[in-house]
Amino acid sequence: GFPLLLHYLLYRTAASPKSSSFILLGPSGAGKTALFSLLESTSSRIAKAARPTHTSQTSTVATITLPPTIPIASNRYRSVNDPSLSEASRNPVKYELKDTPGHGKLRGSQGLSYLETSLNSKKEKERTRGVIFVVDAAALSEGGENLRDAAGYLHDILLLLQKNALNKGSRSFSKVGDPVSVLVAANKQDLFTALPPGSVRNKLETEIDRIRKSRKRGLMDASVGSGINEDEDEVLGGDDGHGIFSFNLLEEVGIKVDVVGGAVKAEGDTDPRAGVRKWEEWIGMCL
Ligand code: GDP
Repeated sequence: GFPLLLHYLLYRTAASPKSSSFILLGPSGAGKTALFSLLESTSSRIAKAARPTHTSQTSTVATITLPPTIPIASNRYRSVNDPSLSEASRNPVKYELKDTPGHGKLRGSQGLSYLETSLNSKKEKERTRGVIFVVDAAALSEGGENLRDAAGYLHDILLLLQKNALNKGSRSFSKVGDPVSVLVAANKQDLFTALPPGSVRNKLETEIDRIRKSRKRGLMDASVGSGINEDEDEVLGGDDGHGIFSFNLLEEVGIKVDVVGGAVKAEGDTDPRAGVRKWEEWIGMCL
């Protein structure tokens, strides 16, 4: 009946993607450049099957074409008879991918400020929809510098996303619904020394827990004597830093973190993107 149609129309509006912009972050040596150029260089080939496009080889923002075999979240509710389905396979779904400029050496400052700018972009379409945080899964040994570095960087990113979500929530109701998804791309799964994604997740959570506990201590010290402690949301995860940190804690503020394994270098495979397929599926589920 009519109410159902109305519901459908409202739902469609709510489900229509506002932005399809993703940003690549992560410690240097993780494989960001390799991933960016793999996706960029293979996009024109995929797109050509439908319609020729031009991609720049040097830009830090590229339009990436998803292979038509990757499911898109907003397609899930389409009926089989929906004529737009075949339309979709003729016009593959695209998204914007931003590589962080000047990657390497100065990791934090540049990547974080770049993310902050993208989060608050006035243009809805350019606002960051998802963060792809690439780590070298073969370099995250316990207590090592790489793990500390990666977890520290990820902690700062998540804290920025948390502040952003809480801020927007208090400022305007309409912005609450803009969730940001985070993919931790556990790269280099082709190496037999690489940790599986579940283990990468545990290691990062444990290390981030350590970071936020010491940070909370720092905040408490700083507020001694001042009588004010208004920095509750300065601690990642929102439970005031008491419990054990897990990425799930962030879902309360609309931040979903997934850890998925892959390899930019999939040796001997005829499909150059075979090793990153699960990441592309993750992107598809965000669109
Ligand atoms: P970035 O600093 O994050 O941009 O890292 P790069 O893209 O420059 O990659 C660092 C190194 O890791 C390079 O030598 C890449 O060839 C290598 N690399 C990237 N992805 C993979 C992978 O999936 N497997 C292996 N074995 N090496 C990779």
